[in-house]
This record gives sequence, C-alpha cells and structure tokens, in this order.
Amino acid sequence: MSTAMQTRGAFDVALIRDEFPILEQAVNDRPLVYLDNAASTQKPEAVIRAIADYYRRDHSNVHRGAHTLADRATAAFEQARMDVAAFLGGAKREEIVFTRGTTEAINLVANAWGRTHLGPGDEILLTAMEHHANIVPWQLVAEATGAVIRVAPVLENGELDLDAWKALLSERTRIAAMVHVSNALGSINPVADMVAAARAAGAVTLVDGAQAVNHFPVDVHALAADFYVFSGHKLFGPTGIGVLYGRESLLDAMPPWQGGGEMIERVSFEAGTTFAGLPWKFEAGTPHIAGAIGLGAAIAWLNGIDRVAAAAHEAALLARLDAALAGMNDVRRIGTAPGRVAVASFLLDGAHPTDVGMLLDQQGIAVRVGHHCTMPLMERFGIPGTVRASFSIYNTFEEVDCFVAGLDKVRSFL
Ligand code: PLP
Repeated sequence: MSTAMQTRGAFDVALIRDEFPILEQAVNDRPLVYLDNAASTQKPEAVIRAIADYYRRDHSNVHRGAHTLADRATAAFEQARMDVAAFLGGAKREEIVFTRGTTEAINLVANAWGRTHLGPGDEILLTAMEHHANIVPWQLVAEATGAVIRVAPVLENGELDLDAWKALLSERTRIAAMVHVSNALGSINPVADMVAAARAAGAVTLVDGAQAVNHFPVDVHALAADFYVFSGHKLFGPTGIGVLYGRESLLDAMPPWQGGGEMIERVSFEAGTTFAGLPWKFEAGTPHIAGAIGLGAAIAWLNGIDRVAAAAHEAALLARLDAALAGMNDVRRIGTAPGRVAVASFLLDGAHPTDVGMLLDQQGIAVRVGHHCTMPLMERFGIPGTVRASFSIYNTFEEVDCFVAGLDKVRSFL
C-alpha cells in the first residue's frame, strides 16, 4: 500500500511528495520546483514499480498467446482497461479504447466517425481555446469531406462565450468538440450544459479531458458526452498511452481507422476481412501493454488520494500565486476565469516568455513558455505566447513563494 493510500482522507502534501522520486533532485544547484504539470505530471513510485515489475515478471505479447506469461500480460492489460472504465464513472469495457494519447484518440474519432458522418456543408463546432490536437484533426477531415469548421469565441477573461457557442449550434452541426479544461488558461468549460445543448441540436459531442481528469473526478455518464478523451502522462501515468471513451452504439457503427493484427476476426484474400469486436476493433497492432498497466497503477494510486482535499490544495496554491501576480504591475494576466484550475498564464513586461523560462530554469524552476499548442487562442489575445506555471497535487506553498521570488530575480536581469 502506498503512503498516500495510508493517508486517505487526510491530505498531506509532504507524504505525497515523498512518493515522487524525481522531485527530490536539484536542478542548476537549486531544489527542483516543477511547475510544468499541464505539459506532463511526474510519476509516483507505485507507477514506476508497476511498469518495472511487469517487465521483470510478466511481459509477453497480449491476446494471442497460449502460455502463462501471455495470459498474465493479457489479464493485466485488460484489467487496466477495467480500471479506466471504473475511473470514468462506470463505462463498459467495450467503450474504452487504448490509444497513444489524447491526440491519437481525437484523430481516431475524426477519421473513423468524421469520414463516415460528415459531408459538404456539415458543421464541426469548436472553441477558440482548443489545443491543436482538437483542431488539426478536424481541419484534415473537413478538407477531405467538405465539412465546415465553426469556432466559438473566448471572452477577455478566458471564459468561453457560451451564448456565442450556443448561437453557432444549428441543425447543420454534426459534432461539437470542446476542451473540458483549457491547458493555456485553466478555464473550465460547462461541458455538461454544452453536451446537452449539442445533443438537443442533434449533434454528437467529443470532450477533450486531457487537463481535467487529473484535477477532478469525471463521470462520463453524468456528462453524457459521446466521446471523452485523455492522456495517461498527464494523470501520473506513462507517456504513449491514452484513452478514448466512446458510447458503445457509436463505436459499434464506426469502421476501424487502422488495420493490422489484433483488430481482426478473420482475414482472407478471397472472402475479405472481418473485424474483432469492441474495443479491439480500434486497437490495431501490439498495444502499449506496459503503458496501460502503468496507467492502471496511476489510477489505483489516485484512487487512494482524497481528491476533494487535493483539489482544495491545488486551488489554494493557485489563489496564492494569483494574489502575488495581481500585485505586480508589470504582469499581464492571460486567463482569469472564475473557478479555473491549476494554471497561471501571464506575460512579464519587457521580457520574452522564452527568456523568462530560461532565467527561471537557471533557478531550478520549470515552467512552460510559448503558445502551448493553442496558437488561435494566442492570436485572439494578440500575443505570441505566455509564461505558464501549472500545479499538481504535490506542489507546495513554498514552491509558489520560490516562483514569485524567481520572477523578482528574472526582473533583475532585464
Ligand atoms: N488537449 C489538451 C487540452 C492538452 O493539454 C494536450 C496536451 O498538452 C493535448 C490535448 C494533447 O495531449 P497528448 O500530446 O498527450 O496527445
């Protein structure tokens, strides 16, 4: 049992930090302050151990072996799928497709659903705060099918203009794809309302949950979204693994998007090929077995944390940083929507974000700078990019103070 599991109900950030070996190091002779969690979270020992144990004891290819290791690997891989299904509020095994990440999950839907359901004049409704992963696949499918992309604007404080979004919904809207939590701004979209409105207009919905699942529980039934996607590496799990949740009836009606082993029932040159059932129809080739097992371990680890307390801790970290930034008259905040999560994006007068990032790194402070894969959003604010500090549950108030002091040091170089 992990230390964090022993403290269920009593959130203790010091104990949680102890489980993340990477956080114990010095960078540029200073204790590492890792504030790049929206890009990727670090991994607890339980996840690292689960992956290592799998390779030490159980590794084999899955699904088609007639030996003990193959059975073990298959059982662990499929158990991880069940863990993901439960994590999303009790989805069915058939509804959980493993992908390489959020990006691949959206590409899967854009190709397998989009190319069969979209035609000239059909509309794809997006928002101006989408990550490129939820823009470019739709642009590609729009080009191939003649569908048209509509984009709902973002208000000055970084909230979605919900009225404008609703006004763009029409009988021509075939799919509304929206980010749950903006990676660049931290704004939370009212996705349950949006899904309901889209459904009433006859549209299918896809929610990009890459920045949501690590901050609060998500129940796909309560949201009623048709597709929900996320990446393992932003949820304390490994890179190279992600999830597409899809409503069973929709997945069932979609053709495969990639062909190969694992996704077939029978292959014949004469009679053609028939496909495996859900979810394997969408998992061509040897999957990322260790990745899925690591993701299952990450979910088990997270299930041992008091998530309400963790969210309150993250909110308190953000409030402390917000208060400090609000008092700096050389800082331009980008994204101040009420209730946003774990992200502070800003510009420092007279400094390019890249230089700020470099000067912070010299002090052991890791942040992300640039457009955050949201170029249209940056364009909307008329900026090339921002400095983004993003929190996770293992960050501390001392780290917030260290970041604020780090900005002072940056100023001294300008
Ligand atoms: N969507 C959002 C909101 C993200 O923040 C990210 C990654 O930063 C992605 C999609 C793409 O995720 P991945 O690169 O893991 O596929």
